[in-house]
Amino acid sequence: MKIICIGRNYREHAKEMKSEIPQVPVFFMKPDTALLRNNQPFYYPDFTKELNYELEVVLRINRLGRNISKRFANRYYDALTLGIDFTARDLQQECKQKGLPWEKAKAFDYSAPIGDFILKDEFPDIFNIDFRLEINDEVVQKGNTSDMIFSYDELISYVSSFVTFRTGDLLFTGTPAGVGKVNIGDRLKAYMGDKLMLDFFVK
Ligand code: MG
Repeated sequence: MKIICIGRNYREHAKEMKSEIPQVPVFFMKPDTALLRNNQPFYYPDFTKELNYELEVVLRINRLGRNISKRFANRYYDALTLGIDFTARDLQQECKQKGLPWEKAKAFDYSAPIGDFILKDEFPDIFNIDFRLEINDEVVQKGNTSDMIFSYDELISYVSSFVTFRTGDLLFTGTPAGVGKVNIGDRLKAYMGDKLMLDFFVK
């Protein structure tokens, strides 16, 4: 399986990164070795001094598809959860400045903790989900899926014109404003509505 991540899909986040609002979705990938599940602890990597959290809604792809049209895209995912797109911001800035790819800043081992999936039919409205991240019981990031620049269906349609989706692939749909640093010893808890989706320590 593969993990496809969307960048700059919330206006306020694009602003805080001093990035332009994209005209088409920006995407990149993480390998399956980036996954971290079951609230296992995350070990702070020694190659960065500025590890950032980015809390994101994650879709689970449930069938094979390429060149998926927008009107059928909703048939290609069946469940949602929250995930963190851990980013070595110092390395990413360096890569950006040099015009180099971001992989070492984004695709490293365990850089994608995810919660358990909830079937999309169990949500009252997947286009209006409040989600938030707490670090040591303080809210540090809040978002709502209604603020996405590109909808789930637009993302799936666009990405699938370049890359085939397979069953079990994951789509990180972008982070809202409020990204920031994590430190060793922090406890991260992420909620969709009032449901606790992630609860793990940085060690
Ligand atoms: Mg992200």
